[in-house]
Amino acid sequence: MGPHPVLPQGSPLIKRITIAIDGPAGAGKSSVARKVAQDLGYTYIDTGAMYRAVAWLGLQHAVPLEDEVGTVELARTAAIRFAPAPDGPQRVYANDTDITEAIREPEVTRLSSPVSAISGVRKLLVAQQQSLGSEGGVVMEGRDIGTVVFPNAQVKVFLTASEEERARRRWLEMQGRGQTADICDVQAQIRERDQRDSSRADSPLCAAQDALVIESDGVPFDAVVRRILDAAAEHSGDLAE
Ligand code: C5P
Repeated sequence: MGPHPVLPQGSPLIKRITIAIDGPAGAGKSSVARKVAQDLGYTYIDTGAMYRAVAWLGLQHAVPLEDEVGTVELARTAAIRFAPAPDGPQRVYANDTDITEAIREPEVTRLSSPVSAISGVRKLLVAQQQSLGSEGGVVMEGRDIGTVVFPNAQVKVFLTASEEERARRRWLEMQGRGQTADICDVQAQIRERDQRDSSRADSPLCAAQDALVIESDGVPFDAVVRRILDAAAEHSGDLAE
């Protein structure tokens, strides 16, 4: 095999492949996935936002978590869509309401994990995610993209970092949004969410066997992005006609 084709940032890949980025809360998946998508001219899909949207709808319609049938119905009828924003991250809509900021509220964050453990909700959202990514040319981030949603994705990444580092990043992110929080509380919530996401029966958070595992403690953002772009270039080369 010859040397891997390494494309300069911004170069279009020969084939529009699927890139799956999974990992625990606060690992930096969103910013990394967004940048990789931007550099490749790909569509970025944040699947966590879809589970958050269902949690948000549950709060709006006063459907408690215990009402699994009602929660699945919310997921079934919710028209969740993403729209690019000219000067910032993409917007998220549920039934035509812009919920981009609302789904980052701590209460929605807390509820999104138990909502995502409901199999009926997962089934519906996974089908939507598969449809959104069916044409390739996507960077999709979540917990089960490389294992369940796109098990044949050409590039699978499991992005992680120590719990302390992830809590620190999430805390800084919250500060940036004007949300006040104690860093120890943030770490405890991250631990609880990861524990729940990793131990649920349906599609638990785990690295796909063939995932490129990136431990990002102390690794500069650009270097993480570069590693994924290199992996994408390598696989695009494999697929070139
Ligand atoms: O990634 P984010 O923190 O926005 O995800 C919110 C929650 O949605 C996670 O804690 C997880 O429970 C759930 N999720 C999931 N599967 C995905 C993406 C997110 O279960 N593919």
